[in-house]
Amino acid sequence: MTSDAASARPDPADEVVDLCRDLLRIDTTNTGDNATSVGERAAAEYVAEKLAEVGVDAVIHESAPGRANLVARIPGTDPGRDALLVHGHLDVVPADPDEWSVHPFSGEIRDGYLWGRGAIDMKDFDAMVLTVVRNWQRTGVRPARDIVLAFTADEEAGSDYGAHFLTEHHRGLFDGCTEAIGEVGGFSYTIDESQRLYLIETAEKGIDWLRLHARGRPGHGSMVHDDNAVTALAEAVARIGRHRFPVVVTDTVRAFLEEVSDLLGVELDPADPETAIAKLGPIANIIGATIRNTANPTRFAAGYKDNVIPGRATATIDCRSLPGQSELLEQQLRELVGPDIVIEYIQRQPALETTFDGDLVDAMSVALRAEDPGARPVPYMLSGGTDAKAFSQLGIRCFGFAPLRLPADLNFSGLFHGIDERVPVDGLQFGVRVLDRFLRSC
Ligand SMILES: [Zn+2]
Repeated sequence: MTSDAASARPDPADEVVDLCRDLLRIDTTNTGDNATSVGERAAAEYVAEKLAEVGVDAVIHESAPGRANLVARIPGTDPGRDALLVHGHLDVVPADPDEWSVHPFSGEIRDGYLWGRGAIDMKDFDAMVLTVVRNWQRTGVRPARDIVLAFTADEEAGSDYGAHFLTEHHRGLFDGCTEAIGEVGGFSYTIDESQRLYLIETAEKGIDWLRLHARGRPGHGSMVHDDNAVTALAEAVARIGRHRFPVVVTDTVRAFLEEVSDLLGVELDPADPETAIAKLGPIANIIGATIRNTANPTRFAAGYKDNVIPGRATATIDCRSLPGQSELLEQQLRELVGPDIVIEYIQRQPALETTFDGDLVDAMSVALRAEDPGARPVPYMLSGGTDAKAFSQLGIRCFGFAPLRLPADLNFSGLFHGIDERVPVDGLQFGVRVLDRFLRSC
């Protein structure tokens, strides 16, 4: 016999699915433009309501109308302990319904998956955090250390209206926080039936977005012309686009490759890590980008009429630097483009790297192994950037740990910002169990 209170209490395994589906149905598309971005306020209010229902007070901080960030603090039992920050963004990248098998904001459950834009990036984790906290509040569980919850806006467009706004204008909210968990880590990669890697993010590359400016002499398209801005810029962009920067294996990547080579029985040649990486299948795209600086041309703009040679041309290059390599990358780029092209930085955020050790890492590993005896936690470097960039500015040691057990055949990295983004329902439920264990023990 169960008591009325117990029978009225939702099972976390069901609740996480409901909460995630509700969040997916709130369209929080971030276009990068305040005029057309939607839904962050509604999502933050939804989260606030779900916390208020179980007695947790949260405050919504708007950086601009509609750009809502929510922060709450769960007090710990041991005031001597430093606080842990648990953060997740509420915005998503755009999705075109015509390209999807289901409507991207329908929150449909089909074939064992919950579908929708944000299902893995990252309303799944938002829902897991909410589920754990609601269950704790209902059952009287309190963590040892303060846990600060942050649900942010604008992660998908550089976080100026989200995490950077919070750390610049409301840094007191994070008083006492020394460590943090957020996206993109804790997900599984199947080695075989009995072994799965769980990639825990301990490092992320820097963001070095730049604009190239070429100047030339304007003129008539029919005439002899030796000072054409379009030609000069095209040559510079092509040199960058074809350039391969030298391989630099950082501590994080070395630890990852050693573990993986061992498990896969692949010979790891330190001078040629690419051969081992090529055997990793779908995650080779992520790992392959973390052994060197990269520079990908993404935009090119010039001209206004078919028979007019314009006086100027611009291009954007999305560069990502390894820890400690941003200045070196700038030098390398200057050499590639030559003296006549002007380089302007439009976004520059440093790379992060921390060590894979200590009590927090142990707690992650123990929680994973308790729910999956075949778990092999490994550190890795993310080739992209997250809100960790902002929170690390406060001296917080940031990890990507949003636990998720995935089927062996799922191309997980392809789902980020991809068509038919979806999360396995049982993976979501696994994540709640791991997160609950981890947060209780850390
Ligand atoms: Zn994300």
